[in-house]
Amino acid sequence: MAADQPTVLLVEDEPAQREVLRYNLEAEGFRVVAGENGEEGLVLMDEESPDVVVLDWMLPKVSGIEVCRQLKTRPETRAVPIIMLSARSEEVDRVRGLETGADDYVVKPYSVIELMARVRAQLRRARPAAAGLVLEYEDIRLDSETHRVTRGEEALKLGPTEFRLLSTFMEKPGRVFTREQLLDRVWGRDIYVDTRTVDVHVGRLRKALCKHGGEDPLRTVRGAGYALG
Ligand code: CA
Repeated sequence: MAADQPTVLLVEDEPAQREVLRYNLEAEGFRVVAGENGEEGLVLMDEESPDVVVLDWMLPKVSGIEVCRQLKTRPETRAVPIIMLSARSEEVDRVRGLETGADDYVVKPYSVIELMARVRAQLRRARPAAAGLVLEYEDIRLDSETHRVTRGEEALKLGPTEFRLLSTFMEKPGRVFTREQLLDRVWGRDIYVDTRTVDVHVGRLRKALCKHGGEDPLRTVRGAGYALG
């Protein structure tokens, strides 16, 4: 999925709860992918690269705790925030005690409004561009809501792919992204694109960023990929 619409993975086995949450998350502007058990949750995690996970504690097949533990152990999913839902506060204590690595906990019955606020808070932390914030790096400014990019006083014209590339870099300055990671984030996992395409678009982005002068802020890391700064 492209960076424009943030995706929430919802794993909840009770159909009524699942539908209420799906409805509310969609009303908040999220794309929702939903699973009804832990096994499905793990598969959807791989297939959909969600930005935030809302995970029930008691789930058939693989429990929510086990799903959480697995996702927080794997390097490729570790950074994705997980909000655990549990039926009792003692369970929350146990989740904390087990050090599953969940980022937040909500006790059922929860207020949907509060849960939505927590999802937004996790999204802002993990994916500021997807949350519609303004990102800044040195003299570059990217407004993810209006899609305006400026460097110093100059407005820059970027194509949609270059815009998403720059958002990805600006969310994590200094981080080296491999070509495959950039493909997943910018083009989405469902589309087959050659990794050389990444080089072409990074080249275009560089050109656009330096059009009115200034140093090239993008760094090519040999054998690894690209980074901002
Ligand atoms: Ca349940």
